[in-house]
Amino acid sequence: MARVVALFDFDKTIIDCDSDNWVVDELGFTELFDQLLPTMPWNSLMDTMMKEMHAKGVTINDIVEVLQKIPIHPRIIPAIKSAHDAGWELRIVSDANRFFIETILNHMGLRNYFSEINTNPSYVDEEGRLRISPYHDFSKSSHGCNLCPPNMCKGLIVGRMLSEEGKNKFIYLGDGSGDYCPNLKLRAGDHVMPRKNFPLWDLICKNPKLIAARIHEWSDGEDLERVLLNLINTVTDGDEDDAGAQFIAVDCKFGTVPMASHEPLPQNRALPVRH
Ligand SMILES: [Mg+2]
Ligand SMILES: [Zn+2]
Repeated sequence: MARVVALFDFDKTIIDCDSDNWVVDELGFTELFDQLLPTMPWNSLMDTMMKEMHAKGVTINDIVEVLQKIPIHPRIIPAIKSAHDAGWELRIVSDANRFFIETILNHMGLRNYFSEINTNPSYVDEEGRLRISPYHDFSKSSHGCNLCPPNMCKGLIVGRMLSEEGKNKFIYLGDGSGDYCPNLKLRAGDHVMPRKNFPLWDLICKNPKLIAARIHEWSDGEDLERVLLNLINTVTDGDEDDAGAQFIAVDCKFGTVPMASHEPLPQNRALPVRH
């Protein structure tokens, strides 16, 4: 039987900030992070930061304590539980790392609501240092997508799901520019929930015609819950036709900036900017 599969980005979608920045900032390593950011890819930098922090005496428990204080909008947890209770399968697709995500989800009592976490691998080594590796090992080969950072193309992950389980209906919730590539792959019966005024929403608004899925914007956790509950009522019942129209991102300036689907994005993704 066909299922509804909801794909959640993590940073600034489930939690209200970027977990990498949160850990670095809360433990007082912002300056070093900003210094090193222009010199290496973000994912490699996070592994380096864990090494530097470990060398300065930061323990894995310090990191766990900081992760457990991460801000989340109070309506996100009930929203996730509602989707799960409706029989949806929930998965994470994130460019953070497994240790951060599992620590936070466990703390919030949400880990068992997600059947899959697609993210950068990580583990605590014998010295107690957190090691973070790329999801895609770009030292061996490129994933070939110029929209995405070298360590992860979310479009490849979602493309694989679509080809293996084409009967399922997909709903993608995200905020960042890394969430754009997978949304170019979603089909007419799928749905995308971009966070309003965040990079994914901006990119979609530049040319909404490139997105086949229905677009439903949201601005904060309360809004996410409202939109998700509407989708639960309509998509789960299979009675979709009246549902979609009212949630289409009305604030988008449709088609004002033409952009071919295979052109590189206007901004250079390799630029050393914070997430
Ligand atoms: Mg995000
Ligand atoms: Zn990509």
